[in-house]
Amino acid sequence: MDLPAARIAHSNRDHIMKRIGDVMRDLPAANRPRPSQTGGAVRIRNRDTVRCPICNDAGYLRNDVPVGHPLFGTVIVCECKQRELDERRDEELKRLSNLEAFGQCTFDTFDPEMPGLDEAYEAALAFAQEPGHTWLFLSGPCGVGKTHLAVAIAYYAMEWHRMSVYFAVVPDLLDHLRSTFDPNSGAAYDDRFATIRNAPLLVLDDLGTENATPWAKEKLYQIINHRYSEQMPTVITTNVDLGAKGKIDERIYSRIMDHRLTRHVAIDADDFRLAGDPRRVRRRGRGR
Ligand SMILES: [Zn+2]
Repeated sequence: MDLPAARIAHSNRDHIMKRIGDVMRDLPAANRPRPSQTGGAVRIRNRDTVRCPICNDAGYLRNDVPVGHPLFGTVIVCECKQRELDERRDEELKRLSNLEAFGQCTFDTFDPEMPGLDEAYEAALAFAQEPGHTWLFLSGPCGVGKTHLAVAIAYYAMEWHRMSVYFAVVPDLLDHLRSTFDPNSGAAYDDRFATIRNAPLLVLDDLGTENATPWAKEKLYQIINHRYSEQMPTVITTNVDLGAKGKIDERIYSRIMDHRLTRHVAIDADDFRLAGDPRRVRRRGRGR
């Protein structure tokens, strides 16, 4: 749920406390919890069983503002409800990310001594330690460990910052969006799309390899552009030659290359080849 009002809950607590009866009267009927009925008699909830004393388990509170105030009559999500929504989102992102498929790709298992990789390693670790309003963009040839670093960032953020992360290989993400899109269930799809777009940390691996339809391209652009304008922490990797035009959508490319937001580390193929023995990161469902 993407209520701007939810933020008010934390900044403006004094205004929002309102007895539950008042709140319920103002909720649209569809959102109103039904009283459990036994034999025609409405059971009154026992005070001792109330889990949230702020909203009496209604989940929502009314903005307590005078008539005429722009927020008059609007409801906000109680912190108990917000917690529940966050947990549900975390579960969904975790399930969609399927990070287990990448096994032991952590910072501990990465060799930063490899020529040409020290800067990428340092940038990835710095990003993982402080994922603020910044983007990290890793470009370079296949097999140099960009995916390893991207996965390591995801693990680190989950473990040390308790952050909710969505990790996706771009072609898989677009396949997923396509396959789950059903014009008849617009609302459910929009919710899923919003969950992905608003993931607290988004990691997109392998940008530019997708063979996208105009529709999928547009979806990808919407995700990237949203995170760009909101300055949400995002990691992107690509194998494509950045000198070759047209591999990455021009609009996406211009946002990624905005150095006010993005730290870009280009891993040099020659440096890496000199070292020999390029490690390969095992990919989901590929090369097996
Ligand atoms: Zn509550």
